[in-house]
Amino acid sequence: MKYVATHVHSDYSDGLYSPKGTVELAKKKGVYALAVTEHDSIKSIDEFLKYGEEKKVGIIPGIEISVVYGGLLKNKKHIFNIHLVGLGIDSKSADFTRYEKSVNESRYKRNKKII
Ligand SMILES: [Zn+2]
Repeated sequence: MKYVATHVHSDYSDGLYSPKGTVELAKKKGVYALAVTEHDSIKSIDEFLKYGEEKKVGIIPGIEISVVYGGLLKNKKHIFNIHLVGLGIDSKSADFTRYEKSVNESRYKRNKKII
């Protein structure tokens, strides 16, 4: 039986291992392929692709996007923060680069208010 991990983070977001370490662990555990789904980021995908090719572990480019569901509703009781996972994305798309940049800018502004 071939195993595919469909939701994997590295230390680029909140995972424990680097992309290299993650791929090595996947290989050791007999994982056939893994989907990279960093939080609001595509930065680790190239590194995963490199090590995946070296170790013969399939890499599925993905992302985990933070979404506010119901944010435009008048009744604020129905607002939920959810994480939406996208698999098989085009990580070279300018849309993801723009998205990542806007997330980083809004986090910077939020952090500046806290300090
Ligand atoms: Zn996740």
